[in-house]
Amino acid sequence: MSRLDFVLEELITANRVLAHEGIVDSFGHISARHPDNPQHYLLSRARAPERIERDDIVEYRLDGTAIDDDGRAPYTERFIHGAIYEARRDVHAVVHNHSPSVIPFGVTGTKLKPLLHMCASCGHEVPIWDSCEKFGDTTLLVSDMAMGRDLAQLLGARPSALMRGHGATVVGRSVRHAVFIAVYLELGAKLQMQAMAMGGIKFLSPGEVDKITARVNDYTLDRAWENWARRAGREMQA
Ligand SMILES: [Zn+2]
Repeated sequence: MSRLDFVLEELITANRVLAHEGIVDSFGHISARHPDNPQHYLLSRARAPERIERDDIVEYRLDGTAIDDDGRAPYTERFIHGAIYEARRDVHAVVHNHSPSVIPFGVTGTKLKPLLHMCASCGHEVPIWDSCEKFGDTTLLVSDMAMGRDLAQLLGARPSALMRGHGATVVGRSVRHAVFIAVYLELGAKLQMQAMAMGGIKFLSPGEVDKITARVNDYTLDRAWENWARRAGREMQA
C-alpha cells in the first residue's frame, strides 16, 4: 500500500469515527496533508462525514483550489485547513467541528482548560478566535484565505482553538492524533461544565499538561484508534 493509499483510508475511518463519537454531525470535516506533497492536502467534497467514501476525497492546493474536483463541490470552510498547513509545518491533520459542549466556552469567555489527564493534549488553555474582531458581521464561516490565516495566527503553535459562536479547530501530527485531541476536547468541555456546576475546579497544572502530552505516543493513539474504528464499522490499518 502506498503512503497516499494509507492516508486516504485513514481519512475515511477518521470521518466515520468523528461522526460516531459525536464530534461532527452532518457538518464538520477532517483533512490530511498530502504525504508526498506538503503543499497539498486531502479533504472530502462537501458531504456529511459519516457518508464519505474514497471517491469523495479531493486533493487541494494550500490556497483551497482543487487539483481536480471533477464536479465535486468543496466545503466552504476548506480555507481553515490550507491556512493552517501553510503556517504549521508540524501539522499533518486538521479537524474542524461544531461539537456541542465546546460552544458555550466560545461565547462566555470562560476559559476551557484541561481538568482530566486524557484531555491534556488540548493544550494549557484553549484560545478563542472571534471572526467579528477583524471581519465584522459575517456568516461566521471561514470562507476565504484571509479568514483562514487569521484563525491560524490565533492558533499559533497550539493544538486547538475555539471559534466564537461556531465551533473548534484541532490539529495533530497525524490523522489519529488530531482525532484523539478532538474527541477529548469535546469530553473535556462537557466535564468542565459539570464540574463548574459543582464548585471550584482544580485544573491540571501547566507542568502536568506538558508531562502528559509528552507521553501521548503511537501506542496511546493506536489503542484508542482501534476501538473507535471498530465501533464505527472500520478496521484499523497496520
Ligand atoms: Zn464550521
